[in-house]
Amino acid sequence: MRVLVVEDEVPLAELIKEGLEDEGYSVDVAYDGEEGFDLAANEPYDVIILDIMLPKKDGFEIVKDLRNDGVKTPILMLTAKSATEDKVLGLNSGADDYLTKPFSFDELLARVRALLRRSFGEVKSIVRVADLELNLNTHEVKRSSKPIELTSKEYALLEYLTLNKDRLLSRMDIIEHIYDYNYDFDSNVVDVLVARLRRKIDKGFDKKLIHTVRGAGYMVKG
Ligand code: CA
Repeated sequence: MRVLVVEDEVPLAELIKEGLEDEGYSVDVAYDGEEGFDLAANEPYDVIILDIMLPKKDGFEIVKDLRNDGVKTPILMLTAKSATEDKVLGLNSGADDYLTKPFSFDELLARVRALLRRSFGEVKSIVRVADLELNLNTHEVKRSSKPIELTSKEYALLEYLTLNKDRLLSRMDIIEHIYDYNYDFDSNVVDVLVARLRRKIDKGFDKKLIHTVRGAGYMVKG
């Protein structure tokens, strides 16, 4: 899953980025409101973490303009103090959730996961396709109840495919959701990653879950 962090406090932005990357997310950071808005409006993020007090364009304006432009990406707003929080709630700006600073990283992560689940219509943290089971919180993966060890990129790919089960995903869709903006684009990378994932998920099973749609992309089907 791909996350945009718009935060002008560099140490906090870096902390969030590193923490989320450790959890397998790909993360872009914008340090001012204009850059944040441009990225949010043009790149397909799965979640946006947005500070309110920002240089050039504040968080309220960003949310309002994104929603007016039809961008529906879930937004978690970071508020500096309780007075601001009141204002946020009063403004009903179109954000999906709010977190008051200072917060723990675990709290942030829990909110991000909840927003992601909600946006994919998942109520529970366990997602199943046939006998494949993914735990969105712990990233544990099982097939026929047997644990499968995945790298963080393999997990990110499987999670994205699984949450979009029965939907055809192009290589570009996959790249845009599991790699960050600075990723050095190589069209082969998805095929290589899918091949690795297949060896772990489908090898030895009669029923294959990862399907190739020739010339178009990939799909997970139960
Ligand atoms: Ca700020």
